[in-house]
Amino acid sequence: MNAGGPELFQVSTLAALAHGANRGGITIAELLAHGDFGIGTFDGLDGELVVLEGRAFRIAGHERVTRADDRDLTPYAAVTAFRSEERLPLPACADIAELLAALDRLRSEEHRIAAVHVDGRFARLGLRVACGAREGETLAHAAGHQFEAHHTGVDATMVGFWTPQDLLGVDVVGYHLHVLSNDHTVGGHVAEAAGTGLTARIQTEGRLHVVGAPTRGIDAAQLAEDLGTSERFRRHPG
Ligand SMILES: [Zn+2]
Repeated sequence: MNAGGPELFQVSTLAALAHGANRGGITIAELLAHGDFGIGTFDGLDGELVVLEGRAFRIAGHERVTRADDRDLTPYAAVTAFRSEERLPLPACADIAELLAALDRLRSEEHRIAAVHVDGRFARLGLRVACGAREGETLAHAAGHQFEAHHTGVDATMVGFWTPQDLLGVDVVGYHLHVLSNDHTVGGHVAEAAGTGLTARIQTEGRLHVVGAPTRGIDAAQLAEDLGTSERFRRHPG
């Protein structure tokens, strides 16, 4: 990813977060210096992060939505300067699969990250909210005690990214979308969605800038094993 165009600024990687690097990170103030649009999580997996129009929001358990403090830390986040003005109408979407398929038809590049903005009235929204994790706790384990909610008839904006398979381990491959209602009362990580008359805006990212973050909790031996060491041993036994 060395072409021109907007830059995606990414803190840490999904692989590190998934293996428990969920403590510490960079400040929200530092993150906002690199973009006005994006998603992530907070120190200790304490809530979902939405950055929209330069403002950072924390959606904590039971969907308590607050403005994030500039000094709050994020161990995993991605932001960009979102400038796409072209509003693309989406067909009626009966569920999240139809919504993502409609977005797929609007994306033009198969090997570049796309920033994705979807707004309108959502007939249905299914959300998840991370509710904290122990230092070193894997993402899969933490997902077992997250908050889930369902809503109908919500005016909201989805914020997120589509990531190509080439970047497996850096970020969620495919779509990773968070959502915030326009009245700032509802939000989270998108698990389900439906709506008619929704509008998409899509921006292809030209560069990816990944920074290490001073996170704690990662099990490096387990990560190395998952990222290929064990695979190598399986392929070349003895
Ligand atoms: Zn998420």
